[in-house]
Amino acid sequence: MIILKEKLLLKKQVRVDFHVHSTYSSDSIITSKDLTVFAKKRSLDAVAITDHNQIAGALTLAKKTDLLIIPGIEVSTECGHVVGLNVKQNIPRNMSVDDTVDCIHKAGGLAVACHPFAWFKGSLGKNITEKFDAIETINSSAFPFLYCKKKSIKIAQQLNLAHVAGTDAHNPESIGLAYTVLEADLNVDSIIKAILEKRCQVFGNPLTLSMRLKQKYARITKRK
Ligand SMILES: [Zn+2]
Ligand SMILES: [Zn+2]
Repeated sequence: MIILKEKLLLKKQVRVDFHVHSTYSSDSIITSKDLTVFAKKRSLDAVAITDHNQIAGALTLAKKTDLLIIPGIEVSTECGHVVGLNVKQNIPRNMSVDDTVDCIHKAGGLAVACHPFAWFKGSLGKNITEKFDAIETINSSAFPFLYCKKKSIKIAQQLNLAHVAGTDAHNPESIGLAYTVLEADLNVDSIIKAILEKRCQVFGNPLTLSMRLKQKYARITKRK
């Protein structure tokens, strides 16, 4: 009986990569099969599909795999990229950051300041406000990695926002290199609630040089 009680007190943990692009992004080659294979390899319980300015990839892939998919979108704003999590509709691009965050909230989603200090990536920099729900404090693709991580953690602490991590994967082998561990059940609502209640911790490493080169090569060949 005592053992049973202890078991009940234990909170469940889920491991999620909150930033993955599918083939629906012009610069990604990740398919539903890749998601299944690499999520298993990296012990992920769920993945957020966050294609550039469109939700179609997330909705389609959710039907093609048994893996839990959190529907998302990476929106290009006037001042940088913003990720919407748990969003099932397109969010218009090229709006102000404030309007984009409002639009994501109206659609029932969470607004995440992704790779806020990364170079060459469309980053928000100083345009982050407390209106955001979370900061992506680890993004494996962000360069320079440690500089971006340090600055992102600092702004998350200053604004008292949740931390999330994602790889920004465009190639299969990058999936799960960064991940968030949440105290949540394995469903979208519970995971989103855990972010809002800051029951999450971030982990992750930068892309290796070979992963970066493969990513660049895939972008060039896919666009031809
Ligand atoms: Zn981005
Ligand atoms: Zn991205």
